Amino acid sequence: MKPLEVKNIVKSYDKTLALSDVSFSMNEGEIYGLLGPNGAGKSTMINIISGLITKDAGQVLIQGHDLDKEMRTAKSLLGVVPQELAIYPDLSGRANVSFFGSLYGLSGNELKKSVEEVLEFVGLTDRAKDLAKTYSGGMKRRLNMACGMVHRPKLLILDEPTVGIDPQSRKHIMDALVKLHDEGMNILYTTHYMEEAQALCKRIAIMDQGQMIAQGTLSDLRGLLNEKRNIVLSVDSPVKAGLLEEIEGVYDVSFSNGSVLIKGDDSTELIKRLIDTLNRENIDIRDMRIEEINLEDIFLGLTGRKLRD
Ligand code: ADP
Ligand code: MG
Repeated sequence: MKPLEVKNIVKSYDKTLALSDVSFSMNEGEIYGLLGPNGAGKSTMINIISGLITKDAGQVLIQGHDLDKEMRTAKSLLGVVPQELAIYPDLSGRANVSFFGSLYGLSGNELKKSVEEVLEFVGLTDRAKDLAKTYSGGMKRRLNMACGMVHRPKLLILDEPTVGIDPQSRKHIMDALVKLHDEGMNILYTTHYMEEAQALCKRIAIMDQGQMIAQGTLSDLRGLLNEKRNIVLSVDSPVKAGLLEEIEGVYDVSFSNGSVLIKGDDSTELIKRLIDTLNRENIDIRDMRIEEINLEDIFLGLTGRKLRD
């Protein structure tokens, strides 16, 4: 049974088409990434899956349960960590988690035990008795996360949980997600940080301006483009315009302070051709770095725009 299936979702706010026929599905035991720049429609999607806002069309199935027809069952399987903090500043960290635990139907000893476990899990045990408003930004984010997962949901959904936090809290959250994944939790992770998606997620859906651009593993996504590698050359003299562009397997050439960035295919022949061409022109190569393209490059290749604003 798939933890989540999202089919043909359409959603408009007045004149803005926020989601235009978006579909994807998660496999059991997977951290699935929803990657896209601001305004892509990620939060709208998360809010629809969580039942917080209505959709105009489409279907959401959680563990096979239709969100419209079996709302209670479907929602009970979910834990949501929203982008906007959903914590009570005038309650202690512990009281916050306890409140959400009881909302999700926990009580008595089970509630107490779960609250302590999850506080420990996000690294807030020492500060659990302090009011949430005294927490740092990163601690608030971690508390927000604890509140969304205190009932150990089958599917945990996190909407940009690491925006604007300190590196230590970010690392804590990343490590915690890997641990939850190892324990078998299904995780839908929304972010506009390609490094996070690349490090954490087995499969990734790339969204932009309300559209699903592409989905798959990093290697599936790389397969969508001709360019597979970034080759960065440092050379001792200027390269004449058009020289490298003509080489078979080169898709793009750009120059920045003394180095040349070449987007090319992943053949060894290409490297040979590059070296031969530069040799012929008596240009010495001081340094060469070859990297596989990353999600940022893939986004740029697919949309013509940068992921970061
Ligand atoms: P993301 O989370 O990827 O940044 P959102 O889902 O928040 O994207 O937004 C998608 C689009 O919908 C954006 O153009 C945004 O301005 C618009 N939008 C989001 N929420 C509302 C709202 N409550 N009212 C009107 N427009 C909205
Ligand atoms: Mg958002």
